[in-house]
Amino acid sequence: MLDRLPARVSIVEVSPRDGLQNEAAPIDTDGKLRLVNALVQSGLTRIELTSFVAPRWVPQLADAEEVARRALRREGVVFSALCPNSRGLERAIAAGLDEVAVFLSSSETHNKRNTNKSIKTSLETFAEVIEMALGERMRVRAYISTVWGCPYEGETDPGRALEIARELLGLGCYQVSLGDTIGVGTPLQTRRICELFLQHVPAEQLALHLHDTRGTALANALIGLELGVTTFDASVAGLGGCPYAPGAAGNLATEDLVYMLHGMGIETGVDLDQLIEAGRIAETVVGRRLPGKVHQAGPNRPRNSA
Ligand code: MG
Repeated sequence: MLDRLPARVSIVEVSPRDGLQNEAAPIDTDGKLRLVNALVQSGLTRIELTSFVAPRWVPQLADAEEVARRALRREGVVFSALCPNSRGLERAIAAGLDEVAVFLSSSETHNKRNTNKSIKTSLETFAEVIEMALGERMRVRAYISTVWGCPYEGETDPGRALEIARELLGLGCYQVSLGDTIGVGTPLQTRRICELFLQHVPAEQLALHLHDTRGTALANALIGLELGVTTFDASVAGLGGCPYAPGAAGNLATEDLVYMLHGMGIETGVDLDQLIEAGRIAETVVGRRLPGKVHQAGPNRPRNSA
């Protein structure tokens, strides 16, 4: 299988949104911008900046407009933001973003708890958001969470996630990102999920959003790679804990993913040293140690002899 690995992988960096929104302490806007700018400097070209949700839902991201306005623009770098509804989209348009993302869960209970909507109502809302966004010549990505398991319902049906994915792609999303939201996935399960999706969805329209809560994120990523998936979401230094297990790891760390890919000869366009520097900045911005493995151990490089 390993002879079928892709030559290049596209990384969607989610730390400024998915990472920071889970931080308990408020983060100042300048700190967020230091992080975003360091991520851009490292060569990442797809960065999820923020979320245009109502500030009363996620006070941590109440500065969405300012972050979007002040982030370092560079040729070839696309910034995106989550938009839960048309009000959020209007804010994203006003902020000059080229891409937005919609999000829902494949578990009814998780969707209700997370967004206070049924899956059906979420899809109706997004139909309107997507149509408006496409009319503005924006690209729309979709996140489907709890594809590997739900904190309330346990194991979820990937067939339901597939139905939702096909509906979102049919509405005009260019890619669906499948989330292992609570980090429970194991490789054979990942194989089953990816194989099911790839029967119906072209590989370039699929992404994996893996969490490393139980240490399986890279093993699951490798399965996706072998099956032809070439887009992965990740968060520098593993920023963004698991919301259901305080203190536990959440998002797959970008450095860990890049280290593994580069070690296998797969290009990412990212400079690992500069990415590690961005991870150090992330740590100072949030003021706590972050769980990424490469973040903690550093790159594999001989030490200078004394
Ligand atoms: Mg995540």
